[in-house]
Amino acid sequence: MFEIYQFTCRSDNFGVLVHDPKYNLTASIDAPDFETVEAALHEKGWQLTHIFTTHHHFDHVAGHKALKEKYGCLVIGPEKEKDKIPCINQTVQDGDHLSFGSVAFKVMETPGHTLGHVIYYCPEVGVLFAGDTLFPLGCGRLFEGSALDMWQSLQKILALPGDTKIYCGHEYTSSNADFAMVIDPENEVLKKRFEEVKAFRDADKPTVPTILKQELLTNPFLRVGDYNIRQKLGMLEASDEEVFIEIRRLKDNF
Ligand SMILES: [Zn+2]
Repeated sequence: MFEIYQFTCRSDNFGVLVHDPKYNLTASIDAPDFETVEAALHEKGWQLTHIFTTHHHFDHVAGHKALKEKYGCLVIGPEKEKDKIPCINQTVQDGDHLSFGSVAFKVMETPGHTLGHVIYYCPEVGVLFAGDTLFPLGCGRLFEGSALDMWQSLQKILALPGDTKIYCGHEYTSSNADFAMVIDPENEVLKKRFEEVKAFRDADKPTVPTILKQELLTNPFLRVGDYNIRQKLGMLEASDEEVFIEIRRLKDNF
């Protein structure tokens, strides 16, 4: 139903273009910078029609103004961050459905990394654009929201089908893998994934997208109920939220 083209930009950001050939629409998921998004459009021969913004951080909106000037594209972003997103002309909030050619994206608010952060989920294609909320083997840093906000946001992702393909804003997987091995060293699936991640990064290949069910088996932030992790943290009796908050605290100091 659509083609997805991912490319690297800035130091560790991903740019993503989503193209619907039938309706000749192309959306950029965020716009980390003008030149790289423009080069990707040129390479594919696509005309930009939409920008779907996940949050207001500079490395996600730096290309908005120049792309809007060049293409006159529709700039969509979270209602709660509309004053911080350049050239925005359509706002979205939790539960909105955003029509895009043959499909629709469901908008979910996921506060934590920023207070107004949104993610875009397309059930027809089984793909999620998670911005800086969930990363392979990790989750977003808490710049504005609390750990509890982030935990509740991640529950929305956990409710999606296991085979959901997840794109995100950065290549952080190698350092996330190092941390995951400290928290969950007995996990055989994680050990194997750790080796894969290192091999991919050594070959300069991206580790994104990921698949939700793979995260459920290996991402410590989603495995707070795991006995071995709880035992390792000395938190066998704690609530899931408490374990999550502790793992986030440990990662911040890793
Ligand atoms: Zn960010």
